[in-house]
Amino acid sequence: MANSQYEYVKQFEQPDRLLPNTWIVIRIDGRGFTKFANKYRFEKPNDRRALELMNAAAKAVMTELPDITIAYGVSDEYSFVFHKTCSLFDRRSSKLVSTVVSTFTAYYVHFWPTYFPNSPLSPPLPSFDGRAVCYPSVENLLDYMSWRQVDCHINNLYNTTFWALIQQGGIGATEAEERLKGTLASDKNEILFSEFGINYNNEPEIYKKGSVVFRDYELVEPGTHNPTVEADSLAKPVQQSKSQAEKDKKRRSKARIVVEHVDIIKPDFWERRPWLLS
Ligand code: ATP
Ligand code: ATP
Ligand code: MG
Ligand code: MG
Ligand code: MG
Ligand code: MG
Ligand code: MG
Repeated sequence: MANSQYEYVKQFEQPDRLLPNTWIVIRIDGRGFTKFANKYRFEKPNDRRALELMNAAAKAVMTELPDITIAYGVSDEYSFVFHKTCSLFDRRSSKLVSTVVSTFTAYYVHFWPTYFPNSPLSPPLPSFDGRAVCYPSVENLLDYMSWRQVDCHINNLYNTTFWALIQQGGIGATEAEERLKGTLASDKNEILFSEFGINYNNEPEIYKKGSVVFRDYELVEPGTHNPTVEADSLAKPVQQSKSQAEKDKKRRSKARIVVEHVDIIKPDFWERRPWLLS
């Protein structure tokens, strides 16, 4: 737009660049999904189709945004981690958040018929909110990831017991809630086992651990991978040469994106995949 008497309005825009050299986490969350889950009769406590749809949308987001290092999903939420050297949109928060949210939502709707072939979507359509938070250290970032996975575990143990009491125990929601008030994890495990013959440990990993989405470099070219070299070549100083940045970007966009249901609280996961945090 050429200069005009109206152009001054641009000055009202607030700068929102996220702190440089920090890990950016963008968490999105389904809006009103309690109602949404009822409308489309999600199985309780866990509808696997709904979780796999979330994962498919997250994979698509990661494919379109190679700056994302790893993502973690549970229930109706997903956290996307942008590498601390990310310079996409000059790190402008609203640009990053809105792009992630709209890309995710678009793919969620796009893939819906694949996972729910017999339940066509009708308004109100699914939508997601989003926020960005910067974590200045790897320790903070890993604590963030642990926080989400612990949340997944606590909620899933509660929900599994709650719904067993209702579906198999035949009691009402209020009564089930009453029954679980003040119980510890061990109490819930005991209720599941002694009253319903459910060994919580044998529940599917996707329910217990959530979903971790990341680029698996080792599987790009089988047999030729050297993890140490790979990690070194991906280690980036804050000021990275343009050609190196381009190379990394190309490498990232070529890597296979995988979804696993694994422990990300113990250091083992990160130690075995040094390229994720380098
Ligand atoms: P808000 O708009 O504030 O986020 P919400 O209703 O989405 O409200 P959440 O705390 O995000 O509240 O909870 C998500 C809801 O969606 C829960 O009720 C959860 O049981 C349901 N839900 C999400 N995914 C699944 C799934 N795969 N299977 C069954 N229920 C699900
Ligand atoms: P960015 O991602 O930075 O926004 P962009 O390519 O979307 O890049 P814009 O400045 O948003 O750039 O410009 C929108 C582009 O889309 C322009 O090239 C415009 O001509 C084109 N475009 C948008 N709507 C129409 C339309 N209805 N008919 C023809 N062209 C359109
Ligand atoms: Mg435009
Ligand atoms: Mg919410
Ligand atoms: Mg929600
Ligand atoms: Mg939620
Ligand atoms: Mg545009």
